[in-house]
Amino acid sequence: MTHAPGPSCDICRIHADAACAPFEVARDGRWVVRHHLPPSPLAGWTFLCAQRHVQGPADLDDAEADGFGRALRRVSRAVREVTGCDRVYAIAFGQGAPHLHVHLVPRFDAEPGTAAWKVADWYRAVERGERPAADAAAVAGAVRGLRDALGGGPLDR
Ligand SMILES: [Zn+2]
Repeated sequence: MTHAPGPSCDICRIHADAACAPFEVARDGRWVVRHHLPPSPLAGWTFLCAQRHVQGPADLDDAEADGFGRALRRVSRAVREVTGCDRVYAIAFGQGAPHLHVHLVPRFDAEPGTAAWKVADWYRAVERGERPAADAAAVAGAVRGLRDALGGGPLDR
């Protein structure tokens, strides 16, 4: 099922908010890529969001479903290239906002505190202010790098 877009949806609100533009990486007719807003748990923590207001993959239309894998691969590769991480986690709950936003998380083997589900504890510690957020300059650098890596045009090619 789909839910009404609008001010009640945080993802729709962020996509329309000019104040969030410095964290937007790329946008095409179907997808929006953006960096996590401050406080960001890690530099390079990126989202692949459906442009349309859909709760999750079950609600994608055929064209979105066809392009989803390619867009996911492309943005995940960009996160890996830009951050130099060992792997990229892909997590989608659709709980905080009923609007598909896949968390693409750069995972470094050298940081055991972010392994698998521990990354959720890390996330919440940053959210509560118990752990410092990623450095603002590092986040800005990641945004620039991701923009360069992805360029313009369709994200699902
Ligand atoms: Zn929405």
